[in-house]
Amino acid sequence: MGKVLDYPLLTKHGSALLLIANDQRIRIRDIAASLEISERTAQGIVADLVENKYLERHHEGRRNVYELKANRLLGLPIDHDVKVQSFFESLATFQSKALETHSDLTFDQSGIATIVVALDGTMQHVNQAACQLIGQPMNAIIGRQWTDYTHPDDVANWQVVIAKILGGEDGYLEQQRFVRPDGTFVWTSAYVSIVRGEDGQPLHYVAHLPDITDQKNIEEHRDFQGLHDPLTGVANRTLLTSRLEHAQGRAQRQGIWLGVISLNLDHFKLINSSLGHDFGDELLRQVAQRLLGVIRPSDSVARIGADEFIIVCDDSTGSETASLARLVIETIRAPFLHMGHQILVTASLGVVMATAESTPEELLRDAEVGVARGKEQDGNQIEYFDESLRWKSERRAILMVGLRRALEQNEFTVYYQPIVDLATGYMASAEALLRWNHPELGSVNPAEFIPYAEEIGLIDEIGAWVVEQACAQLALWHADGHDMNVAVNVSVLQMMAADIVQVTEKTLERTKFSGEGLCFELTESVLMDDVNYFGQTFTDLKSLGIRLSIDDFGTGFSSLGRLKRYPIDELKVDQGFVKGLGTDPLDTALVEAIVAMANALKLSVTAEGIENESQLAHLRAMGCQRGQGYFLARPMPAAAINQLVESRHRWELV
Ligand code: C2E
Ligand code: MG
Ligand code: MG
Repeated sequence: MGKVLDYPLLTKHGSALLLIANDQRIRIRDIAASLEISERTAQGIVADLVENKYLERHHEGRRNVYELKANRLLGLPIDHDVKVQSFFESLATFQSKALETHSDLTFDQSGIATIVVALDGTMQHVNQAACQLIGQPMNAIIGRQWTDYTHPDDVANWQVVIAKILGGEDGYLEQQRFVRPDGTFVWTSAYVSIVRGEDGQPLHYVAHLPDITDQKNIEEHRDFQGLHDPLTGVANRTLLTSRLEHAQGRAQRQGIWLGVISLNLDHFKLINSSLGHDFGDELLRQVAQRLLGVIRPSDSVARIGADEFIIVCDDSTGSETASLARLVIETIRAPFLHMGHQILVTASLGVVMATAESTPEELLRDAEVGVARGKEQDGNQIEYFDESLRWKSERRAILMVGLRRALEQNEFTVYYQPIVDLATGYMASAEALLRWNHPELGSVNPAEFIPYAEEIGLIDEIGAWVVEQACAQLALWHADGHDMNVAVNVSVLQMMAADIVQVTEKTLERTKFSGEGLCFELTESVLMDDVNYFGQTFTDLKSLGIRLSIDDFGTGFSSLGRLKRYPIDELKVDQGFVKGLGTDPLDTALVEAIVAMANALKLSVTAEGIENESQLAHLRAMGCQRGQGYFLARPMPAAAINQLVESRHRWELV
């Protein structure tokens, strides 16, 4: 059984309770006996103390025993906790009584650092725990000013505390740091109360100073870790979001402006992989430092992705935000050093001004849309977000979400555009062009949604579906004795899929079509790789009977020499060059060169985007074999192309 000790504590029940020494256990019955109260009353008091965590309940056999740990107090949510305050008040009253009756024993034995401070701030009495806390012997504390050992930043707090107390508050709780002789400091949760004499006049203050340093350190560490980016030390997304919320709230209340700048380094992945991750990390740290160097004190910087930084420009007009953005572009442009070499880095910036309705998520998203626009235009620039961009980003989200459903619910169709033999005027082939009939947005252009399908990894499935449609169509035509060909567009990402050959082979089996007559239109980027990345795929596709064509030829950077090394069958002259045929001498010369080269390399050549008679005449004069364009025929549904095929339509090419 625990021993009931000699710390009377006045509870809010008004009864005197004997407090139990640290780590000692006691039963309700003992409490009742020593206080000369009923067990029922003791039970009530104890329940109250347990609820407030002054006491801890344990089980010993079938009995409950109770234990007080002074340390427990440190774990309590001390701020503004009335019940805890009342505990301290009681303790203070008791201790000042103890002082008056010179029973210093209890005061000294208290595990909680306690200091009695005269009205002029001189420390009059300290207990052993307080000496340990401050790290000074008793005689070095007594007689000194309270503020002498107070952390400089907290000195003003003491004035606040005294003002509160003199202003009528019984006691006041304030976190307060004390400086130890070695320069370190301890955090305390200082509860200061005033002790008055019989006549009501203030006698002195009593300060209870539980040590909360450990708790504080953990909190600070956790707060910092949880809210900052470990690499650069600037705010992370969590802190950024809360700052944005506050800034936005303030902007609305006070009618001031709020700007957000999103920054993304151009070609960071490339820098990272070519110069090494260590340099990549160092670069990001330096970028963060440069940003911190140009912002105003009221702005803040956060890092929310590998090379994505956000600057929140609090209380900043559109033109102030824009001039900061220009400053940022400049500071990033200054060379970075890597092993004695100067590395030039640029950034794309998106700038958005908050409106009354914008949420932090929207602000970040809109700023990032600006960044993406800048990147589309080769980076190193600032894009200002406006309503048209907002609509673009909403549309993007709608399309992204709709793609999978489109595939499942047959919202896609394939249109065919005739490719005409420029010597005979008969249809030589047709290009399969994907169409998406979106339930809300209507017809959506493949140039718009194909990149999204690639982004969300749906391009393989969509591509396989198009091939299937094309093969089924071809199989029908061939069964009817029409010698037709169909060209299908295949993006680089599709070519990179490990199973492109198997999937195509299966499709051919299913549609009972040999592959003869099918052509894959690839972009020039498949030729750019030195190691002949697609070599095996090319060979396998060719062995299925599929022809290979290079689409939009002339826009990429493929070396002409490579064309000879790859099993390519056809070039499609990009419509951009065809547009200038006969009017722009450079375009005309380029088309002529491509046609001549294709003929020399024994590749067939198709010109796309023929929109008028003059272009057609030029192409025929140059010896271009095939043509495609609105002047000849627009892309059309399968039924329409069927009619042309069945009627063996012939174009009059004068
Ligand atoms: P592309 O392969 O270069 O296709 C030619 C594009 O030019 C088509 O646009 C066609 O409608 C358009 N066009 C044809 N003749 C003319 C003309 O005389 N004047 C003008 N101004 N344009 C003409 P569309 O159908 O919007 O397709 C755009 C691009 O989307 C295609 O460019 C192709 O790269 C891609 N695409 C289309 N279908 C698919 C598909 O099934 N899979 C993949 N991966 N990409 C596709
Ligand atoms: Mg094409
Ligand atoms: Mg093309």
